[in-house]
Amino acid sequence: MALTGTKKMFEKAYAGHYAIGAFNVNNMEIIQGIMEGAREKQCPVILQASEGARKYAGQEYIVSLVKTAIEQYPEIPVTLHLDHGSGFQVCKECIDGGFTSVMFDGSKYSFDENVKITKQVVEYAHAHGVVVEAELGRLAGVEDMVSVDAKDAIFTDPEEAAEFVALTGCDSLAIAIGTSHGAYKYSGDPYLDYERLEKVGKLLPNYPIVLHGASTVIQKYVQKCNEFGGKVIGAKGVPEDMLRKAATMAVCKINIDTDIRLAMTAAIRESLMTHPENFDPREYLKPAREAVKQMVIHKIDTALGCANSI
Ligand SMILES: [Zn+2]
Repeated sequence: MALTGTKKMFEKAYAGHYAIGAFNVNNMEIIQGIMEGAREKQCPVILQASEGARKYAGQEYIVSLVKTAIEQYPEIPVTLHLDHGSGFQVCKECIDGGFTSVMFDGSKYSFDENVKITKQVVEYAHAHGVVVEAELGRLAGVEDMVSVDAKDAIFTDPEEAAEFVALTGCDSLAIAIGTSHGAYKYSGDPYLDYERLEKVGKLLPNYPIVLHGASTVIQKYVQKCNEFGGKVIGAKGVPEDMLRKAATMAVCKINIDTDIRLAMTAAIRESLMTHPENFDPREYLKPAREAVKQMVIHKIDTALGCANSI
């Protein structure tokens, strides 16, 4: 199967009241772990690369790894997506380089400027058969190249969201309803503004909404990190049942990055601490890859609800 866009995936997800997992990828082991999880649960996946991932691995490596993955897992629909494109140029480079979906994140701009650049990206993307995710509202937290203080976070206004989609023609929209980037999402109780989400769903019927900053920060991985010499203190994310509820509403894409990092790091720490004599990277990357697979399966079962949706 060739790489695909998200249009059909999201149509089915919306109608089926589930969400597709969008997993951040940086290297071979992460991609293999995610694909193994998707095969076991028989569901589509979105593999997404941030600008940080492009800097780390190089766009060509990422594209080649993903192309190899779709040959190895021909039954799994896969979208290759740019996460948090900061401007037209990086979106264009990804479209030209073989991505089937790009995000332009204009959330730091004024409404008008965000509309203007998103429109420009949409025009170029659609002319090349590529779909566009945009963002309105602002999430708190830290992600690769983006850092936003909690006081600067702005929840998305539903009426503005509807206007934004009509003006830009973007194919999906990331909104801010309480999630945040990174491993430290809440100082108090976790919170998602379902009322706001419902209003967006009413104003934009059948329109796919995206949740960023939606890792659960799975505590067994946090504990394992700390048990084997790590220092991940006070990390807290979005509980899986809250994500599952959002997925039954308008949310069709849920981004997961922090949970991959934690699962891998926990496995690598355990392996290195329990086998201090080992110096073969395969010996610790193998359990790390398996941890990614198991985490993906867990997310599909508990938060996404997309098993057997091919
Ligand atoms: Zn994000």
